[in-house]
Amino acid sequence: MINTRKPTALLEWLDIKKWIQENLDNLLSDIKIDGYIDGIDMEEPEISELEINEIYINEDESRFLDDNKETAFISVTGDVQVSIDAFMFKSDYFSLDLKENSIIELMDDDWNKHYVWIRIHPEAELDISLTVNILNKKIDSYEAVLRYNIYGFCKHCSAPLYSDAEEFCPKCEKSLF
Ligand SMILES: [Zn+2]
Repeated sequence: MINTRKPTALLEWLDIKKWIQENLDNLLSDIKIDGYIDGIDMEEPEISELEINEIYINEDESRFLDDNKETAFISVTGDVQVSIDAFMFKSDYFSLDLKENSIIELMDDDWNKHYVWIRIHPEAELDISLTVNILNKKIDSYEAVLRYNIYGFCKHCSAPLYSDAEEFCPKCEKSLF
């Protein structure tokens, strides 16, 4: 008889970081991207690289899904290093005034007649929701969402701004006003 309040107590066998690494190829195509850079239109964003720095289970959001405590919903968040490839209109890209601290890397300035190919390196979080079979010790299904919000760039050094409440640039410390 299982007698724990939280399913996470039963998950010593679940090495989530290892599971992500083993399933990374599948995961990469399944991850939904929920991110934006204010004022920048990126088309067809796709994750090209993903590395997990740190991962932790959200105990409060995890729960059993049945009375017998055989299946559980587990919520996991990871700090990741990610590269996202996308396309931008040439005129939009070349009207940007970004210096070397920008997270936008130009991969091809002439991808086709209309677009440049860019790669961005945002600070991002990966949220994974797992349905776990406790009895069989298996992950039945999962959903993964990559999240980042960039509110703009420092006008002095082009560092990305992850909050719209900053008064000073976190990188060069100059006033953002
Ligand atoms: Zn700055």
